[in-house]
Amino acid sequence: MQKAFDIGLDLLVGGKAVAAGAAPDFIAGAPQRGTFYLETFGCQMNEHDSEKVAGVLLSRGYRQVHSVEAASFVLYNTCSIREKAAQKVFSRLGEFREMPGESKKIGVLGCVAQQEGERIFHRSPWVSLVCGSASYSKLPELLAQLEAGEKRVTGLDTDTDETFETELTRRDNPWRAYLTIIEGCDKACSYCVVPYTRGPERSRTSDSVLRELRQLAELGYTEVQFLGQTVNSYADPSPRGLKFSELLRAAAEMPGMRRVRFTTSHPRDFGADIVEAIEHDERICNHVHLPVQSGSTRVLRAMQRTYSREGYLEKIAMIRRGNKHIAITTDIIVGFPGETEREFEETLSLLEMVKYEGIFSFKYSPRPNTPARAMEDAISEEEQSRRLAVLLELQRKIQTEANEKLIGQSFEVHVEGKSRKENQWSGHTSCHRVVNFSSAQPDLLGKYVNVKVQSTTPNSLIGVHQ
Ligand code: SAM
Ligand code: SF4
Repeated sequence: MQKAFDIGLDLLVGGKAVAAGAAPDFIAGAPQRGTFYLETFGCQMNEHDSEKVAGVLLSRGYRQVHSVEAASFVLYNTCSIREKAAQKVFSRLGEFREMPGESKKIGVLGCVAQQEGERIFHRSPWVSLVCGSASYSKLPELLAQLEAGEKRVTGLDTDTDETFETELTRRDNPWRAYLTIIEGCDKACSYCVVPYTRGPERSRTSDSVLRELRQLAELGYTEVQFLGQTVNSYADPSPRGLKFSELLRAAAEMPGMRRVRFTTSHPRDFGADIVEAIEHDERICNHVHLPVQSGSTRVLRAMQRTYSREGYLEKIAMIRRGNKHIAITTDIIVGFPGETEREFEETLSLLEMVKYEGIFSFKYSPRPNTPARAMEDAISEEEQSRRLAVLLELQRKIQTEANEKLIGQSFEVHVEGKSRKENQWSGHTSCHRVVNFSSAQPDLLGKYVNVKVQSTTPNSLIGVHQ
């Protein structure tokens, strides 16, 4: 019999852990409703939303397939953070224009669904479901309407205090699990669609988070990554009232869990208590992703980021003052409207000062509904590309120098990949560096091993199993 998942199988069914590899490609007892193909664009939160959406579909009796051709129901979980990401979705939807007579149902989920709403039906009349992430808890109802024969169904309400919790989640990675602890965003960065597409901030109760974590540990997961657009703005809505750092500490104490990560942190809500939690318990990973976006206080103000260059650098100093090295990574936007050459150079000088372990950098892209869209003095695409290249070159130099200093050191690596080349493996350190290493030992996947660094590239460490 065909199995549901390619790599491992990890289900939480009815709140009860089911052993990896034990489930069939459909849920026994559920009515058989056809096949679905689900493609995901964008961030880790979207990836994890898709794991939960797949869980909802499986529990209704749908079977997952891995090609559009084999599916009776095709779903795209979309991203609209930048224009290019949104365009990709419309080009996927356009492919169905060339498939007349096909009886597939098509669904659009996520940020483009929320942003474009019913306009999607006009542009692509073959779409029958449009649902934003703030309405995912209504998916069972929406699917029931489609199954009853309705042609166009929408879930577009963002005025909600609900979080999306599922009885069943289909996770791809058998060792590291994503777990969303806070949805939506209440910040109002002037360039960003997320507050419009994902709705207001809403945290899950600490009991619900820790219950799911216990189930994950029972399934054999040893690493969890807490997710949220502003994960450290977490506020436990239950009477227990755990702060984010207290939730981290409680999670690290879960028997079986060896690593607890979290992303993305907003500088405004990043306090010394989080650094203390990382120092206190080595199971809390020593990596913080702290997006700065720009090194210029004037640009930060125009971005409505709520901190200045100096304020951000104080947070960095606080992290660096601790007695444990904590890797810091960031996001940068170049070519924000009105960004002068001098202001761009302030971003470069901030990079030199902080010496990030890694960066994600983007050319500013104007987005619907955002205040920055109406700002004057747009920077040309050509100039944006130039600034991005300069930024990347500088960061490459910084990473090359920093990584070379690690030669001779040993790191604990969680092994997640096996190369086609014999005896070659890969994984991550607690500080989230990629490590490629050699070992003659078999069956290392999912294990934690010590690796001594022998050489480096700007983006990875290369070593040998000790
Ligand atoms: N919540 C996170 C934070 O506060 O930094 C980031 C979430 S967003 C999904 C990821 C990154 O996309 C942002 O940090 C920003 O650098 C980038 N981004 C968001 N809107 C953008 C836009 N309009 N143009 C270019 N990059 C953008
Ligand atoms: Fe977007 Fe700002 Fe919210 Fe991050 S904090 S999701 S960049 S609005």
